[in-house]
Amino acid sequence: MRVVVLGYGGWVSNPTYGHTSILVTSETGSVLLDAGEGVFRDLFECGYSDLKRIKAIVLTHGHGDHTLGLPTIAQFAKVFNARLLIVGLEKTLTSLVEILRATSVSNYECCLEFVPVKHGDVVEVAGIKMKFAEVPHTIPSIAVRVEESGTGRCLTYSGDTSYSEELVRLAEGCDLLMHEASFSDTEASLARSLGHSTVSDCIRVGVEAKNRLIVPLHFGLEEPRIDLTSLPKSITVVYPAKCLTIDV
Ligand SMILES: [Zn+2]
Repeated sequence: MRVVVLGYGGWVSNPTYGHTSILVTSETGSVLLDAGEGVFRDLFECGYSDLKRIKAIVLTHGHGDHTLGLPTIAQFAKVFNARLLIVGLEKTLTSLVEILRATSVSNYECCLEFVPVKHGDVVEVAGIKMKFAEVPHTIPSIAVRVEESGTGRCLTYSGDTSYSEELVRLAEGCDLLMHEASFSDTEASLARSLGHSTVSDCIRVGVEAKNRLIVPLHFGLEEPRIDLTSLPKSITVVYPAKCLTIDV
């Protein structure tokens, strides 16, 4: 299973980071995790723009830096005759329909099938199993564990969240954790008030869930500094970069 970082910034961030979005691809198909503005261009630039291979898009919550790429994806899905499951909380899916209508994307029903999920649900598509947990943010938000059927290889993607024990349970034993780290440790109270995580929150989840590899995401204007000397030897932290590819 291959994981590609398409972007790793937050809504207000250095524009060169792009918006946080992850492509998970296996032999049988691909799943896109979040779809902020410009995500189709990011897929193209990273060499993964074949929408027919993408079987599902998970939208973790309704904030624009995670959803505003959907109208363009829908238009290209029509052109390429692709069919995608759009997976998210009921409330998120309702706001997505409003975005598609507001941007005059017609006949999207041909190519997008909306699949509402809630805490604990499992959705399997093209040999990729996804399990969901609700996590604390300023609006309803989910994290997702993505597992390759057969091999059991997996990653967990936090979406936007403050520290969450539910997320630790969801991520337990996974090879890879991709967790937001929107704020530095000196801004811990601000992070919590905005439903986000600090670098230490991100690392804490990875340590408690016994993950092997951690990729911090959703950076602000600057990359957060991580004290790598205090990490357990069993954990490796990889800074994201556009089109960074990790095989798990
Ligand atoms: Zn958000």
